[in-house]
Amino acid sequence: MADHYLCVHGHFYQPARGNPFTEGEVLVEKGAEPYRNFNEKINAECYAPNAELGNFGLMSFNLGATLARWLEINAPETYRKIVSSEQQYRAQWGVGNALAQPAHHTILPLCRPRDKRIQVKWGLMSFEHRFGHKAEGMWLPEMAVDLESLQELHDAGIKFTILAQTQLKGATEGAGPYWVKLPSGDRMLVYARDDWHSNQLAFNIQSLGGAGRWARNTLTPLRKSYPRFLLIAADGETFGHHHPGEEHFLHWLLEFEANSVGFEVTTLGRDLRENEPVAEIEINEYTAWSCWHGLNRWSNGCECTPGDSRWKPALRRAFDNLATWVDETYLDVARGLNLDPWALCVDSFRLRLGAVSNTEFLRQAGLADLPADKARQLLDLLLALFYRQRMYTSCTFYFEDLDRPEPRYGIANALRSILLVGQATDSSYVDAFRQDLKLAVSNKNGQTGAQLLDEVMLWAKAAAAPGAAEAHD
Ligand SMILES: [Zn+2]
Repeated sequence: MADHYLCVHGHFYQPARGNPFTEGEVLVEKGAEPYRNFNEKINAECYAPNAELGNFGLMSFNLGATLARWLEINAPETYRKIVSSEQQYRAQWGVGNALAQPAHHTILPLCRPRDKRIQVKWGLMSFEHRFGHKAEGMWLPEMAVDLESLQELHDAGIKFTILAQTQLKGATEGAGPYWVKLPSGDRMLVYARDDWHSNQLAFNIQSLGGAGRWARNTLTPLRKSYPRFLLIAADGETFGHHHPGEEHFLHWLLEFEANSVGFEVTTLGRDLRENEPVAEIEINEYTAWSCWHGLNRWSNGCECTPGDSRWKPALRRAFDNLATWVDETYLDVARGLNLDPWALCVDSFRLRLGAVSNTEFLRQAGLADLPADKARQLLDLLLALFYRQRMYTSCTFYFEDLDRPEPRYGIANALRSILLVGQATDSSYVDAFRQDLKLAVSNKNGQTGAQLLDEVMLWAKAAAAPGAAEAHD
């Protein structure tokens, strides 16, 4: 008879990669052979086999908005299996087993408050669009946390998130959950990931001798000493992509082996219905699960990556200045419309989801009578706001050097935003952006962000028109 509980949470995520001026074209990436790109490779190694085995109906998981969109178009069978696994779970237990995620996997504590709110709300909209119901939990990108972000989650109606044990002050008693007090006086629930056992699976799963052996050797002794609830959380790609074939470990563990040693398999939403929070706890703000140096990996650089990281704050400053320009230009136009400009911006994510047509969107916003040129202008600006959000995706800042694909994609998204605003309002920010980007310098070869901008301007020129392709996410 089970007297303990186990939940395995998988964070399944890929960023939007490629040229934002030719969305929809198949991306070809070096190193992914025999597949055309990494999404196809990782789908074959991880998403498809896990879906095939039914693992998405056994585990807790989050499916990032950009990956969900890619799967829907490029691997519809896998996508359908993932969504229906969650829906079946919900039908069985009265609560779903998937969590939402901020739309662009942005490091929330490094965002301005309004951007935090937009990322959270867009993430929830993506979730509801795909799974057909509201999310109760939200995964924080890189588990990067501060109280202001938790407050945004709370204000958006989210009940819980997951943090690593090292992000919590004091000793923890298993997964919890724990109350965390928010600046407003409200409280947010946090589940604590068991860092040791999570890392054991994330990094050494192939040397554990299979799920049965791991359950007997590791879980069995925990029954004597461990609190009620063990939470493992890792990248979903652990199971099949980082470690080929280990989707079977996950399946055997959750389907048979955990239960056979006295650990009932559960998920976070289910646990929340069946158990009370164990205590109130404080968090270590400005920390993440994947870097020991606060949030420096994405802000100022840290020793996780070799070399000079001064390009990171310089690139972020260029983005921040650009974001201010895009926002203010949008507000200038939106002010004349007699509506809440940021509510409209949030709502416009339905256009990116393909959930509504331009005409219907304008009609529902009470803007059906807008002259055609004004309507086009507004839609272009809303699309510019989308790309200006997307440039901040965490991977733009994650790696060691500026001269890599990820910062290029960030700059290309920024440029697309600039050109859309230019098209809408006959103004230009390219020169100011280039000036800021000169300060971001590759430590590998001295290339500057300005040179990368000139490179991606050729992408824009090669595509028909800056506003030609509609964005989807
Ligand atoms: Zn670090």
